[in-house]
Amino acid sequence: MRAAVFDEFKYPVAVRRTSDPVPAENGVVIGVRATGLCRSDWHGWMGHDPVIQTPHVPGHEFAGIVEAVGGNVSKWRPGERVTLPFGCGCGQCVYCLQGDHQVCNRQFQPGFTHWGSFAEFVAVDFADVNLVGLPDAVSFVVGACLGCRFATAFRAVVDQGQVREGQWVAIHGCGGVGLSAIMIAKSPSMKPPSK
Ligand SMILES: [Zn+2]
Ligand SMILES: [Zn+2]
Repeated sequence: MRAAVFDEFKYPVAVRRTSDPVPAENGVVIGVRATGLCRSDWHGWMGHDPVIQTPHVPGHEFAGIVEAVGGNVSKWRPGERVTLPFGCGCGQCVYCLQGDHQVCNRQFQPGFTHWGSFAEFVAVDFADVNLVGLPDAVSFVVGACLGCRFATAFRAVVDQGQVREGQWVAIHGCGGVGLSAIMIAKSPSMKPPSK
């Protein structure tokens, strides 16, 4: 496959041929159709994240089509349209079992713990736990926005902030997460159901 690779931190990223990924027993390989570019990709390239080993392929917010499936995957088949969260939990530890996949100690993070989506294909572990199907009405570009910036903003506004209709929301910095937070705060679904 072709992929955007850096061989050392802070070195130029080059597009070149690498070997095609194969799925783990609990994983899939996804053919990338859309991928985002995030500030966290820059931190990874700078060498700020100790889990990254070079050479490395960045990219952690993406959507695509399942191309290959490992032997222990039961929920997904080739051809399905999917996206996934930035931090993919193992699904089995105490944090995952209480719904806090984002602090799982065994997280699979495409573009950090493993090669990411600045490539034609990405191997993703823990597929049954983390993959999210995309309806045909949701484009790959929109789907690629959901797993990092949108999920981060949703947790802040809805789960942690518990914002309700009529409240003000202050957003400091309108990057990907900030703009997503504005969209979520303004969403009609923030209104309580009418009687
Ligand atoms: Zn991100
Ligand atoms: Zn876990």
